[in-house]
Amino acid sequence: MKKKSNSRRMTYDVRRTPIVRPLWIEVDLRALRANYRKICKFVGSKVKIIATIKQSAYGHGLIPVAKCLSKAGVSFFGVGSVEEACQLRKAGFKQRIVVLTAVLNKFCDYFIKYEITPTVVDLAFARKLSSLAAKKKKKISIHVKIDTGMGRLGKDVNDAHKFILSLSKLKNLRLEGLYTHFPVADTNFRFTNDQIKSFNEFIKNLEKEGVVFKYHHCANSVGIMNYPHSHFNMIRPGLILYGIESSTKAKLEVKPALSLKSRVIFIKRIKKGSGVSYGSAYVAKKPTYIATIAAGYADGYPWAVSNNGKAGVIIGDKMYKVAGRVCMDHTMIDLGNKKITPGQEVILLGSRGDLQITANDLALWAKTIPYEVVSRFSLKIPRMYKGI
Ligand SMILES: *Cc1c(COP(=O)(O)O)cnc(C)c1O
Repeated sequence: MKKKSNSRRMTYDVRRTPIVRPLWIEVDLRALRANYRKICKFVGSKVKIIATIKQSAYGHGLIPVAKCLSKAGVSFFGVGSVEEACQLRKAGFKQRIVVLTAVLNKFCDYFIKYEITPTVVDLAFARKLSSLAAKKKKKISIHVKIDTGMGRLGKDVNDAHKFILSLSKLKNLRLEGLYTHFPVADTNFRFTNDQIKSFNEFIKNLEKEGVVFKYHHCANSVGIMNYPHSHFNMIRPGLILYGIESSTKAKLEVKPALSLKSRVIFIKRIKKGSGVSYGSAYVAKKPTYIATIAAGYADGYPWAVSNNGKAGVIIGDKMYKVAGRVCMDHTMIDLGNKKITPGQEVILLGSRGDLQITANDLALWAKTIPYEVVSRFSLKIPRMYKGI
C-alpha cells in the first residue's frame, strides 16, 4: 500500500504529531475572521476585497487561512507566486486568485491550466497568453499593473496608455483589473495623494476611449486606513487582516491572530560576572537564574534582538529580558531571582492578560518591520489553529 505523505499533517494539524521540541505557532482564526469583517464594514459593501495571503499568508499558513477566509466570504485571493496559486487550486479553492507579481513569459500556460489571474506588465506576455487562450477557446481575465511611483513592477503611468490600448485589442483577454501600489502611504501624504490623482486621471482617459476595467485597486493596509479615496472598488489588505496595526492615524482595532510560543528547556544559576551566550556580551551584574528556551534565529526569531536591552518574553504573568545573543535554535532569558521549572510556557509573540508582545514590538527591537517578523517564522514550526 502506498504510504500517505504526512507533510501536510505536520504543518497543519499538530494535534496528530508529537511535539518534542517545544516551539509552535498558534493562529487564532476567530481573530482573522473578525479582522476581515471589520475591514468589510470599514470600506462598505461596494468595495471588493483581495485578501492578500502571499508568503504562506504572512507566515500564518496558506491553506488554513484561505479556508477560514473562504468561509467568511472572500472571493479574491492575492498570492505572491504561481506556486501558491497552484497550491490553492490543488486544495480545491474555487475563488479567484490574482498573482501579485510578474511571471516570465515561458510560464504563462499555468494561468490557463489552473485558471488563475496574472498581473500583466508586458505586451509580449499578454500576446502569448492571449494566443494560448485562443487555442483553448478561452477568455482569460487579467489585472494590469501600472507604476505611479513605486518604481517596481509596471509601466510608468505617463507612458502606459498605448500599452493598455494594445492590450485591449487582444481578443482572448478580459481587462478585469487595473492597479498600482503605494511606496510611502505611511510617511508622505502628498506623494500618495498625487499617485491617487494620476491613477484616477489615467482611468478617465482610458474610459474616454472606451477602455473600461471592471476593478480599480491601489490600497494596501495603510492606504485603506489613511486614504478612503484610494479604495476605488477593490482593496488589497494584508497586514491588518492578520491583526497587525500599520502606522496609520485611524485605528481599526484589529486583533493579532498569531502567537509564537516555546517552553523553558533548562535553568541554571550563574554567578555575578558570568557571561551568557556567544561573544559573552551579556554579563550578569548579580547572581541570577538563566532560562534557555527552544527558539532561535533559524526559526525566524530575529538575531537582531540580541543584547537589545528591551527585548523580552512573557513567562507566567511577567516579562523577562532576553539575555545575550540569540543562537541558531536557543535563546536565553534572564529570570533574576525567579526560579522557574523547565517545561514552563514562554510567549515570544502574543499576549497573556495585560501583557502583550506584538509583531510591531518585535520589529522595533530587531530594527525591522512587522512584515519581515511574521513572514520569516520558519515553515517548519508546527502551526495550531484555534476557532476553525
Ligand atoms: C503585499 C501586498 C499588499 C498588502 O500590503 P499590506 O501592507 O500588508 O496591507 C497589497 N498589494 C500588493 C501588490 C502587495 O504585494
